[in-house]
Amino acid sequence: MSASKRISIAVDGPAGAGKSSISKVVAKKLGYLYIDTGAMYRAVTLAVLRAGANPADTDAVSHLLSNLTLRMEPTEEAFRVYVDDNDVTDAIRTQEVNANVSVVAAQKAVRQYLVAQQREMALAGGVILDGRDIGSVVLPNADLKIYLTASVETRAKRRWLEMKDNESVSLDDVKKSVADRDEMDKNREESPLVCVPDAVVIESDNLTFDETVDAMLKLATDVANKAEA
Ligand code: C5P
Repeated sequence: MSASKRISIAVDGPAGAGKSSISKVVAKKLGYLYIDTGAMYRAVTLAVLRAGANPADTDAVSHLLSNLTLRMEPTEEAFRVYVDDNDVTDAIRTQEVNANVSVVAAQKAVRQYLVAQQREMALAGGVILDGRDIGSVVLPNADLKIYLTASVETRAKRRWLEMKDNESVSLDDVKKSVADRDEMDKNREESPLVCVPDAVVIESDNLTFDETVDAMLKLATDVANKAEA
């Protein structure tokens, strides 16, 4: 029996749908590389904020990009993110970054810069990339495309439960932040969040974490086996 193909998997969906945490576990079970593209947009946003630049100033942001070194380093758990050799893995998860990332991610120069890096990282196959434009723009020929979603209430509640020990934010504030990001990500001109017609949709409102992992694993295994058969 021949080994199954090491496929490329695109996972898209709105904020807080569980794309990162689920994809991370699925990648580990498959022995694949997991790339959280949202972390890359967050890292650029953090660099913009730390430089004291206005996140909406496209000239300032694209100037900053020309001097920026971004590195995603795979680890046992997932990966660490470095900007100019500083580890920003935790710093990219603050409310300040949440509030500004969609403005930065809407800019063409930022997307060109990051999409090129994402495609290069995906070249070898055996990868799961998660984001907003993976199936539509980054890997339009991905072997498997998944659109992972849930209602805004479910997504905000999950985010809030994850963060409430760290920052004193109300559930309503998190819901507003998630809804605002959805709005911007779906309506921007450059690579908006879309569910491409060839994606398999997983609605996770009524699924547990493990059930969602299993659903994704089954899809991946079926496609990988067929690709080799
Ligand atoms: O996935 P996460 O919520 O961490 O992504 C943060 C933000 O980065 C998104 O709200 C979106 O604005 C942007 N993003 C994007 N394209 C991707 C991944 C993330 O525009 N592929």
